[in-house]
Amino acid sequence: MKSKIKKKDTVLVISGRDKGKKAEILKVYPETGRALVSKINVCTKHVKPTQAEPGGRRDKEMPINLAKLMLVCPKCEVAIRPKIDRLATGEKVRVCRKCSEVIL
Ligand SMILES: [Zn+2]
Repeated sequence: MKSKIKKKDTVLVISGRDKGKKAEILKVYPETGRALVSKINVCTKHVKPTQAEPGGRRDKEMPINLAKLMLVCPKCEVAIRPKIDRLATGEKVRVCRKCSEVIL
């Protein structure tokens, strides 16, 4: 199934340890079906100090499976499975099933 989630979308995490959190998509990896989501699925890396930077713990997001994410409508702020509609121009757009807002 082709993903309906794009960069800069707000999504709701529906499973895993970040379940229930809303966050923004930073990047989508269509070839692996995963996405990088801001502050979600963070792993802590321990970094050795170098001359340029002090060492310590560094938080880094890891990609999460798109199946664990649901698009959040920017208008009504509800997590939805968008409907795909085709405009007169032939362009496909996502439409909120709840408030009928077109989500670009
Ligand atoms: Zn909506």
